[in-house]
Order: sequence, then structure tokens, then C-alpha cells
Amino acid sequence: PFEVLVIGGGPAGAAAAIYAARKGIRTGVAAERFGGQVLDTMAIENFISVSHTEGPKLAAALEQHVKDYEVDVMNLQTATALVPASQEGGLIEVKLASGASLKSRTVVLSTGARWRSMNVPGEAEYRNKGVAYCPHCDGPLFKGKRVAVIGGGNSGVEAAIDLAGIVSHVTLIEFDSQLRADAVLQRKLHSLPNVTVLLSAQTTEVHGDGNKVVGLSYKERNSGELKRVDLEGIFVQIGLVPNTEWLKGTLALTPRGEIEVDNRGQTSLPGVFAAGDATTVPFKQIVIAMGEGAKAGLAAFDHLIRTVPA
Ligand code: FAD
Repeated sequence: PFEVLVIGGGPAGAAAAIYAARKGIRTGVAAERFGGQVLDTMAIENFISVSHTEGPKLAAALEQHVKDYEVDVMNLQTATALVPASQEGGLIEVKLASGASLKSRTVVLSTGARWRSMNVPGEAEYRNKGVAYCPHCDGPLFKGKRVAVIGGGNSGVEAAIDLAGIVSHVTLIEFDSQLRADAVLQRKLHSLPNVTVLLSAQTTEVHGDGNKVVGLSYKERNSGELKRVDLEGIFVQIGLVPNTEWLKGTLALTPRGEIEVDNRGQTSLPGVFAAGDATTVPFKQIVIAMGEGAKAGLAAFDHLIRTVPA
């Protein structure tokens, strides 16, 4: 059995594995796709101390750094269930889609999250070519340009406020007849001169010129009329979904599915820690996921030295 078993091979999982392995304990990483969301990212300009890198390059570096240590990396493995230890200090089991199962004295969950997409024509085609999901990441790429934000919940309105300070104009598009963001955010939004809010509007298509986004179409739900907006960027803010469906009923999740952790990454189950986008930790970013992963790796080690094996 492992002493630390990490589930997920994104920035959080890689950091947890490296911190655990450096303690000289038996460490394994099982990941559906080593690299995680970073693999889908083009330019990365906020990974502190690295002015510019690209997703696939950073993902390769993550894997290389993990492989510098004696870590058992099991790529293309999907976890389907977690079975808690039957007694304190006992082994925790993780079942895999392959039918195999892994046992470990501690587990670090770092299965990340995925952005919900609109599923309209053009969205997938122009992803990273004008269609974006992360304002903290990609906002500055649209300096002085026109963008739309899709979604009028807290994240959509926060994104619109954030982007309004960078871009020339923001069109916020909400499907419902009202915004769902906190009142204080709505007040701030309405005070901005370069933001237009469209309610009861359903985005129907992303338009491009073959290389990049040039506009979008939406349907006015009250009149049924189709309208078009010319712009250079579209930020889709209709939800970040944690990859935790397989953990439902096993440990404490928020109603949105985020794994509840304390400030050491401890979950509601003894010996089980969690880090990164799959958890309640705010602001889903690479540097944050790495820091949280390091913390969870150290917390797992700390747990091991204080627990007598059953
Ligand atoms: P993830 O990166 O999501 O990794 C999760 C890992 O778990 C993967 O290996 C996945 O395959 C695996 N996994 C999931 N489910 C299972 C399962 N059941 N069993 C086994 N393995 C599983 N952040 C920045 O800081 N700067 C940027 O410029 C930036 N740009 C971005 C651009 C895009 C298009 C996207 C999508 C995100 C961007 N982000 C950026 C956000 C950043 O990528 C995430 O915050 C970060 O990757 C989170 O790391 P993580 O390790 O928590 O999760």
C-alpha cells in the first residue's frame, strides 16, 4: 500500500506528490489525464516568476518534476469510489474504473474542476481564440477590445466588473429576466459607464472569421428576435463544476459539489485531504492550486507521523 495516494494530476496533485515524496514516503498519483486543465490552456502569464509559458509546456514540466522522485505515476486512471478506513490508522481504498483498486494510509484528492460550456455552435471551435473562461487569466489579452460575459450570477458580474477596467466595452448577457449576483455587485456593475446588461437573452452562436471571434448572436427571449453583437472576446461564466461526482455521500461536499476542507486541506474523513479547484478554497488558479497541494501533502505527512498504523 501507499502512504500517500494522490488522485488527480493537475498542479495541485503534482505539488502534493512532490512534497510527499520528498519526505521519503511511498507516494502514488492516479490521474485521468496528467496535467489537468493546464493542458487546455494556451498562454499563462500569471504563474509567478515565469513571465510567460504555455499550458502543454507547464504540464510536461509538472510531470517531469514529479518523475524526478520515486513516485508511482498511474496515468489514464479514473477513480470511481473512495472507501474510508474501517478503523483509525487503517487503509483507505480507492476504486478505479479499470476494476483495480489502490490502498493507502492517506489520500489527497485533487480532481480539479471543469468550466460549464454553453454548447452553442462556434464555442468549441473558437475556444482560446476569443472564447475564454477565466477573467483573471485571459482578461489582459483583451485590453481595449469589446467583450461579452455570459452569465449574470456572482462570477459573471464579478467578471464584468473586472473586465470593464481593462477592455473598452462589456456586454453582460443573462438568460433569466434578472441578475442573480449579490446586490452590492449589481450596484457596482450598474455604476460602470462601459457595461451594457442584456436580460432574458439567450446566446445562440459564436461567430468567427476562421481565426478568431468576431461576434455573437443571441435571442431576445421575450420577442423571439435574433440579434447580433460585434466583439472580440466572450467570457463564459455559467459555472465551474468540481470533478467530485464520484465522492457524493462519502465525505462532506458543499451543495455545489466542492470538497469541504479546513486550512490544512483536511476533509471530513480522517486521513483524507484535498486541494485545488475541487475544494472550497476560493480563486481557482494554478499558483493557488499548487500552494494548496503542497499544504495537503505536508498535512498528510503530519497525519502519518501522528497515527499508529492499524
Ligand atoms: P486540474 O488542473 O483540473 O486537474 C485535475 C486532475 O484530476 C487532472 O489530472 C484530471 O484528469 C484528474 N481527475 C479528475 N477526475 C478524476 C477522477 N475521477 N479520477 C482520477 N483523476 C481525475 N490558471 C492560472 O493560474 N492561469 C491561467 O492562465 C489559467 N488559464 C486557464 C485557461 C483555461 C482554458 C482553463 C480551463 C483554466 C485556466 N486556469 C488558469 C485555471 C487552472 O488551470 C486551474 O486553476 C488549475 O489547473 C487547477 O488545478 P487542480 O490541480 O486543482 O485541477
